[in-house]
Amino acid sequence: MPGQPGSRELPPDVRRRDGAQRGHSVVVEAVLDALPSPTLLLDGEGRVLLANSAWTTAAEFLGDGRLAIGVGGNYFELVRNLIDDSRYLGVLDHLRELSRGERERVSFDCAFAASTGTYWFHLQASRVDRAGQVVVTHTDVTSRVTAERASAWQARHDHLTELPNRAHLHELIDAELSRSDQPPVTVLFLDVDGFKDVNDSLGHEVGDDLLRQLAARLRSRTRTEDTVGRLGGDEFVVLGRDCDAAGAAALAVRCQTTFDEPFQLAGRSARLTASIGIATASAADVPGLRSADLVGDADLAMYAAKTAGRNRVRVFSPELRVAVLQKALVATELRGAIDAGDLVLHYQPVLSLATGAITGVEALVRWQHPERGLLPPGDFVPVAEQNGLIAPLTRWVLAEAVRQAAAWERAGIDLIVGVNISAAHLATGTLIGDVTQALTAAGLAPERLLLELTETCVAEDPDRAAEQFAALRVSGVEVSIDDFGSGFSSLSQLVSMPAGILKIDRELVAAPAHRRSQSAAAIAAVVGLARACGMRSLAEGVETADQLATAKELGCTYAQGFHIARPMTAAALEQWLADRPSRTVHPLVAVGVG
Ligand code: C2E
Ligand code: MG
Ligand code: MG
Repeated sequence: MPGQPGSRELPPDVRRRDGAQRGHSVVVEAVLDALPSPTLLLDGEGRVLLANSAWTTAAEFLGDGRLAIGVGGNYFELVRNLIDDSRYLGVLDHLRELSRGERERVSFDCAFAASTGTYWFHLQASRVDRAGQVVVTHTDVTSRVTAERASAWQARHDHLTELPNRAHLHELIDAELSRSDQPPVTVLFLDVDGFKDVNDSLGHEVGDDLLRQLAARLRSRTRTEDTVGRLGGDEFVVLGRDCDAAGAAALAVRCQTTFDEPFQLAGRSARLTASIGIATASAADVPGLRSADLVGDADLAMYAAKTAGRNRVRVFSPELRVAVLQKALVATELRGAIDAGDLVLHYQPVLSLATGAITGVEALVRWQHPERGLLPPGDFVPVAEQNGLIAPLTRWVLAEAVRQAAAWERAGIDLIVGVNISAAHLATGTLIGDVTQALTAAGLAPERLLLELTETCVAEDPDRAAEQFAALRVSGVEVSIDDFGSGFSSLSQLVSMPAGILKIDRELVAAPAHRRSQSAAAIAAVVGLARACGMRSLAEGVETADQLATAKELGCTYAQGFHIARPMTAAALEQWLADRPSRTVHPLVAVGVG
């Protein structure tokens, strides 16, 4: 048993017999006694022929009277009494085989529950002579086993939340799928909506804190037989054991209700939501089903929930796989479409509220698909962003938009053209070069170009955005923050951003009638904020005369929306401008743009 230094020894007659009985030399006795590990010399039946001092000391240290066997006691009985785990009882057969010369050695780790705690020892036995005597040593390996167990635990758990990690979750789900009774197994895949915004705007420590709070909530809302794990980032998985489709729906509701209460983040209260995907299956229905398949299906369902507008639950169905394939197909087709020039730009007018003049247009890309007709950007811009196609797409948009603006300029139509830029493009580091090249090729002054970057794109990497905004503005190109109010960017980020125009998101502008006063207050606040930061403001998505009047009253500089005009082709825009009753296309300086 575990060796501990100690001074007390049992009387000599307990440790050894006299010379005639013992049948081994004094040298053997002395050697065993010198060993630091508790050691016994046994005969073939497990009778103790010799117990060394370390054994006696350890027996006393562990405070278990059963260990105080001395010469003449039976070690095999001791093992039977102490080790109730049936796995270890085989060791007795092994020791007998060893004694008979049918085995070379016996070696294994074993736990011993003493009153002072659990100890681990390594039992090693070897045969001494032909008479079948066996020496058994017991080395204390408690610290090694404890360290191994701790590191094995760490390898299978997430250090932040202490939940099972990806690898362990797959082990647990696979174990569930290989149960012989083949119960239904549910995998619920949960992703926090807008988690990136929390991380980007409030910092990673706050993001970590949110994940810990969420982990604790999920654990408290799931059944004891279920397992909550974290795949990484803000992705959590719940394994529902013995959980069919009805149980899965109930599980999803319980997980969604964990978001009912706001989270406390850096002293503020924040309401969040999650997108949830569910996959339920049984190995009885899908032979050979693996955890990776089920988690993949739940992930697809979660993705569908997110794209359908967040804060939703979607159950996996095979059509979702088809949708993914279609996306891959779209990416391939889109690559060809950019090269073949199948993209077109529509232009939406921007109205100066002070003068009533159209001072600019926003270029909005469409894809003239040979079979599916004219596709809106929402159908393919995200595909371009996810497939490394955004830079080529934007280069095409930039080139076409500035070419058109230069052509209008030559025709006496002075318009500032706005082009949307994706976060993914900002990250490539080629934006400034791409812009310069397009302007030079078209011979357009930089002051005629406006780049629109969304609020979330700015929040993703504010330092990088600020650096590139500053460089662009120095060159004369104006920069605007698009869809402001739809994201989660902090005021300090905004104040330090060198942008010239703040575009107020249409969700704020086009509020329903019962929220009109709140909406007006929000617009007034954003307009005031823009002014304080030296920026102009633009109300997006103006759909009614009322909204236009409100935007004007509240001091917005510009307005854009269906009420003024829908996006249209370049030719249609020229006609529309020509047909306007107050056909005033003011010079840039007169309306203070540029
Ligand atoms: P955005 O930059 O905020 O563009 C305004 C969107 O709002 C346009 O949708 C426009 O048609 C729509 N809109 C304008 N007025 C109203 C209105 O009164 N009511 C409503 N309900 N909608 C209005 P569109 O063309 O579908 O573009 C959607 C988004 O796609 C754009 O939002 C922009 O983020 C992105 N996008 C468009 N073209 C490009 C592009 O060339 N490159 C990149 N990266 N993104 C683009
Ligand atoms: Mg825009
Ligand atoms: Mg916008």
